[in-house]
Amino acid sequence: MPRSSGTVLENNETTAIANSQLDQAVFLERTKLSFTNIPASIIATFVVAPYLLYVNWAIYGTDLSFIWAGYMFLTMVYRYVIYIAFRKDHERYSLKTWNRLFLVGVVSTAIGWGITGSSLMLTDSLQQQMFTTIVLAGLSSGALATLTPLYSAFVLFTVINMSPLLITLLNYGAPVHYATASLVFIFMAFIITSSARMAKTIQDSISLRFQHDDALKIVAAKKQQTDELNLNLRQQINERELIEHHLEYSMSQLKATLESATDGILVIDNDEQVTNFNQNFIDLFDIPITLIEIADFSQIQGHINSLLKDKTPISPIDTDQVVLLELTDGRLIEAFSKPQKIADHVIGNVLSYRDATMRINSESSLQEAKTKAEVANKQKSEFLSRISHELRTPLNAILGFGHLLQEDNNKHLDSDEKDYISHICVAGEHLLHLIDDLLDISRIESGKLNINLSNVSCEKIINESVALVRPSTTDRNIKIIIKSDLKVMPFIKADHTRCKQALVNLLSNAIKYNKESGSVTLTISANNSHVHFEVKDTGAGISEENFKEIFQPFIRLKQTEKAKGTGIGLTITKRLIDIMNGSIGVESTPGEGSTFWFELPIASTVETASPMQNIKLSPDTTMPAGKQHTILYVEDEPLNQALLKSIVKQISNTRLLMAATGEEGIEIALAEKPDIILMDINLPGVSGYEVLKVIKNDKAFSKTPVFALSANAMPDEIQRGRDAGFFDYLIKPINIDNTRHLLRNTLSMIDNDLI
Ligand code: ADP
Repeated sequence: MPRSSGTVLENNETTAIANSQLDQAVFLERTKLSFTNIPASIIATFVVAPYLLYVNWAIYGTDLSFIWAGYMFLTMVYRYVIYIAFRKDHERYSLKTWNRLFLVGVVSTAIGWGITGSSLMLTDSLQQQMFTTIVLAGLSSGALATLTPLYSAFVLFTVINMSPLLITLLNYGAPVHYATASLVFIFMAFIITSSARMAKTIQDSISLRFQHDDALKIVAAKKQQTDELNLNLRQQINERELIEHHLEYSMSQLKATLESATDGILVIDNDEQVTNFNQNFIDLFDIPITLIEIADFSQIQGHINSLLKDKTPISPIDTDQVVLLELTDGRLIEAFSKPQKIADHVIGNVLSYRDATMRINSESSLQEAKTKAEVANKQKSEFLSRISHELRTPLNAILGFGHLLQEDNNKHLDSDEKDYISHICVAGEHLLHLIDDLLDISRIESGKLNINLSNVSCEKIINESVALVRPSTTDRNIKIIIKSDLKVMPFIKADHTRCKQALVNLLSNAIKYNKESGSVTLTISANNSHVHFEVKDTGAGISEENFKEIFQPFIRLKQTEKAKGTGIGLTITKRLIDIMNGSIGVESTPGEGSTFWFELPIASTVETASPMQNIKLSPDTTMPAGKQHTILYVEDEPLNQALLKSIVKQISNTRLLMAATGEEGIEIALAEKPDIILMDINLPGVSGYEVLKVIKNDKAFSKTPVFALSANAMPDEIQRGRDAGFFDYLIKPINIDNTRHLLRNTLSMIDNDLI
């Protein structure tokens, strides 16, 4: 800071330090300037000294002149040495030391020049005196330029240089000398004053330069600060622009999301002020624009409430459930509210309104249709159950007596009559088959088909199935060939009856749709997981486009229309195989024959037979001789009574008691304690179930097997019978052989205490 300008800094201490640093710097600069001028001084000395030497030669004489010249030369050498030393390393000594060294050079040079001034006393030559005066004045003038940076050096030089001359001139006492002395004096005063001014100017200019440098540095520092600030500002602006861009993006995304939603959406803050909404919301309730502008939710809610049918104000905000709003125009609006949160702090609510009229209406019509379908299905099941019951009851008599007539091998009948009986039996069996198929389809479709998966022997299935279909091969001379070694076949996981049913159906078709004297080849093979059953015939075959449809219910191909059938056999077979976790398919070459196949999974372990399998029908069962058995049959239908009489007639030592009503049945049972009771379910008055209940309540009957004998073959009814406590549920029409064997076996088990 410039001292001359008198600027005052707030912090005096700082100012003092700064000022002393500045003084030092200025002082160094002045010293440098002075040292820089040394060569000029030396040159001046070198030029002027020979003149003075020449002029003063006469005064001093040779010796003194050479001493003076030698002295001057030494001062020059000295000054040159310090000049070089300073230039080389001016930090080697302190500034003060350099100054002293410099002053020594100046003073010793001034002494040299001063001596020449005093030497004028030794001469009277005015010319010589004036010459010396001019030379010395000239030297001081020269020193004005070279020594002024160090003002004290200049003053010392001028005083030492000029004073001997001044004194010498005054000593002469002549007017010219006085005049010259006064001029010299004035000259000295003038140049010392000038030097003082110049020194001050130099000092000021140096200090100004430094201040200027400082100012430049400050400006540079300020500029750097400003640049940094600018950079920061730029970054902040960039960040702000980025945030604004993100904000803009999020806003447009929010807007697009709101507008793309099919629901009407309204967003409100905690003060119930509307902060956002979409057009669907406006459209849904036809909200007036003024209401939206006011943005007050309570007024909007008021508008919505005015549209409600029952005018009860419901707000979705009050519940976390979906609220159903019924509008006067018949629309049904579902309203739902979700809190809007920042971290865990709720800042408002998002309300969504959905027009659910169509959905709710279609749901209710769907529900209606479903209920109707369920009712229709129930009616269908009831109808099937009734029809099945009504058809089975007469069939029981038709097939039962038909088989009895065949069994008796009645000698009174001629061969035509025997044929008629055979036809009656075949037709009856066919009718029974149809009823069973229809019931199966109904069970499968209602998901009520009970499948009992157990380990089943392939050999047994095949033998039983082939035995069942073999009689139908004789008419047209069809050969059944079994290709595989059945003994090595593994057990399969299946329902014995249903697996047999599937195979019998494929074998029956292969026989039915075969050519005269054709063949049916049964091949069984197994891989790691499945047993593969293949039934190959030599019939007309099936073209590929029919492969799928023959498994659809009631589809029959034109080429096979002549043969009897209903078109549901393969449908049942496929569903049965599916339920048993297997697969089924067909391959065929039209004109050559068809190959139907199915696969069922191999059983993982071989299970032991169930207890009921132990009471298998066995014609070999023999009754212990002499032991009398009693069977009670509770049945209101005389034909059925007569049929059972014929069946039991052939079981030795067995008497059959009949009861036509439930009450009578209970009476006879209590009185006679029969070994087995056969019970019709649909009895006039007390039903079979009620009779069972009474009997089972009596301890005396705790072990007595009571069989249900009914024409109702519906799965629910069979299950109900088993649940009620019947030993087994026999379905009419009964197979006379099987029934007779069942009775024999049961009696034998009773005798052996196995029941
Ligand atoms: P149905 O034999 O009672 O007609 P299915 O469901 O068992 O009913 O069979 C459906 C149809 O598939 C049959 O009507 C017949 O046209 C065809 N079909 C089934 N098995 C064979 C076969 N082995 N050869 C030729 N056509 C067959």
